[in-house]
Amino acid sequence: MGGEPKRRHSRARKGKRRASISLSIPNAIVCPNCGIMTMSHAVCKKCGFYRGKDVLSLKKTQEVNS
Ligand SMILES: [Zn+2]
Repeated sequence: MGGEPKRRHSRARKGKRRASISLSIPNAIVCPNCGIMTMSHAVCKKCGFYRGKDVLSLKKTQEVNS
């Protein structure tokens, strides 16, 4: 059994905690292909590259073949 919170946190306290969440963009990296800031572990929105490959066009060609 884990510990239970004795009291609920106030709205101000909750707001202070969540205010810092949106300030920093998590896992932001510079795309090696086009140089734009993008999310790591995700396909680049600008050029569609992921891990050095054009994933979006790759997917389209696979759909045509199948
Ligand atoms: Zn890119």
